[in-house]
Amino acid sequence: MRRRSSIDHTTMREMNVTLILDTLRQRAPISRAALAARTGLNKASVSNMVKDLIASAYVRELGVDESLAEIGRPAINLQLNPDAGYIISAEIGVDFISVIASNFAFEIIARRYENRRNEATQEETFEYFCELLADVYLQARRRDRPIFGVAVGLPGLVDMRTGRLLVAPNLDWRDLPARERLQARFDVPVVVVNEANMAALGESYFGAGRKSRLLLYVSSGVGLGGGIVIDGQLLTGVSGLAGEFGHMTVDPGGLLCRCGNHGCWETQATQTALFRRVRAAIAGGSRSALSQYQDQLTMSLIVDAAKNGDTVARVALEETARWLGIGLANLVNTLNPEHVILGGTLSVAHEWMTPAILDEIERRAFRQVWEQVKFSTATYTADAAVMGGVAMVHRHVISHPMSWQLQPEYLIS
Ligand SMILES: [Zn+2]
Repeated sequence: MRRRSSIDHTTMREMNVTLILDTLRQRAPISRAALAARTGLNKASVSNMVKDLIASAYVRELGVDESLAEIGRPAINLQLNPDAGYIISAEIGVDFISVIASNFAFEIIARRYENRRNEATQEETFEYFCELLADVYLQARRRDRPIFGVAVGLPGLVDMRTGRLLVAPNLDWRDLPARERLQARFDVPVVVVNEANMAALGESYFGAGRKSRLLLYVSSGVGLGGGIVIDGQLLTGVSGLAGEFGHMTVDPGGLLCRCGNHGCWETQATQTALFRRVRAAIAGGSRSALSQYQDQLTMSLIVDAAKNGDTVARVALEETARWLGIGLANLVNTLNPEHVILGGTLSVAHEWMTPAILDEIERRAFRQVWEQVKFSTATYTADAAVMGGVAMVHRHVISHPMSWQLQPEYLIS
């Protein structure tokens, strides 16, 4: 019994420490007294835990709260220590590799970003990725503080229990034991997940979806994916494969998808589909400022053209938006979410797409469900996945401040 109660005491203390750290994450700068008021813990135990957290460098004192000083009760404010330690986060995209190191206050302290060579094999690209990762890792390591973990997002089906990439249709990759190979090279916990799932968690942790109890995040770029976050927890499915919205069938007789199915949402509601529509309109004889860029279309070219009143750009954006709305209406009816966030490179054109997206959802989803939904675009576009990886590791450290190293199963725990 004695042993049991001592474990319970340790667990209780860790839970309270987590509560303090999480309150600091969301409310800093904040004084000890305000921390006690907000958490419901008594002042003495808050002071005691804060003392330990300062000693272990998770927390630092910030200075006097002037507003309180004026009324004669100077209080020292606290915040999470940005240099408590670092988090490495990376994404292999369809046409790029991105690696960042973030401090504990979500500031990027090192970065490598390279275009991915199309002709490179799976093995060559993964090796190159490991080199970039190692470079950023060493830059962070030189600062002589702990590295809490490495998060890696891949654009395909990833078994979250093992960190194994099963298949990535848009990369034409399959069966890569990514976590096992990375864990052999790095002496900190490594987590490997689907990149859109990672981004969804980021939006929930410190992005546009912070206050949502049920967040639906849909990311559309070269492919289409997303994630569902319920009370801060990613809905992973039984083996971590949930969130493959892009491969819902929306058009049974439709185009062949990279996954082998016909008429997936991804074939109609992505940047790839948008570019196809622009090219088809030009090939059909429509005049457009985009004619000269047909082989080098980018989202910013299309947005600029739309701004200048280019009909081809505007019609292609609207049609792509309608397809986005069709899939979203299905998901809204299915999930009854509080908040729908549109992310990915396509979302940079939200100004030109949102009216048609909303119109389509309104026409198709139950009014009683839809009228409760907040719709917005993502806080992060290019950095969405890597910032999501930072959130994933950060949340794990805060939840296990005394034992983060012992529990690398970030998502399963
Ligand atoms: Zn598909």
